[in-house]
Amino acid sequence: MMKKTMPVDGKFELMALPYSDHALEPVVSAGTLGFHHGKHLQAYVNNLNAALPGSGLEGLALEDVVLKAQGGMLNNAGQILNHNLYFSQFRAPVPDNAPTGRLSDAIEAQFGSFEAFKEAFAQAGATLFGSGWVWLSADAQGHLLISQEPNAANPIQRGLCPLLTMDVWEHAYYLDYQNRRPDHLAALWQIIDWDVVAARYEQR
Ligand code: MN
Repeated sequence: MMKKTMPVDGKFELMALPYSDHALEPVVSAGTLGFHHGKHLQAYVNNLNAALPGSGLEGLALEDVVLKAQGGMLNNAGQILNHNLYFSQFRAPVPDNAPTGRLSDAIEAQFGSFEAFKEAFAQAGATLFGSGWVWLSADAQGHLLISQEPNAANPIQRGLCPLLTMDVWEHAYYLDYQNRRPDHLAALWQIIDWDVVAARYEQR
């Protein structure tokens, strides 16, 4: 089961990054990270906190707000959950970065090989029209699947456990890669913290 994110004194907090602003370079620049975390994610947090009073959803975990909210509240809550999962799955670049252990076995069983998985994931990211997120999730039986989710959607809305995600909103890459979304997604494999992803798989 995913660890839930609770509000503190009725408000959700901007997650703290588990690395420095320059740690993900050259894959993600400090400038992109600063805007993405400090401006975009902060705005989603501020918007949700402003909308919570009187909504009937006060005091719920973020994950439960995503399951119960609608409209703008759902969009802001979904974006916070998505970005929390996204920013916490990275680390400094590693050459030949790859999963190990039971998650690696599950990826090979489901997709044939890690290379075939990366190819299918990248294809899903490149072909997602407009803004959204690409996900690797596990279902209740532990089977893995790749999905494209539009806008702020999260696989928990379909009963799945989210493991890994790539943000394909332009704000995630435009400063560094301009319109070259596939190049950005290809580079992200270097900074995936597979220990974090594997822990999500084990705790699902
Ligand atoms: Mn984003």
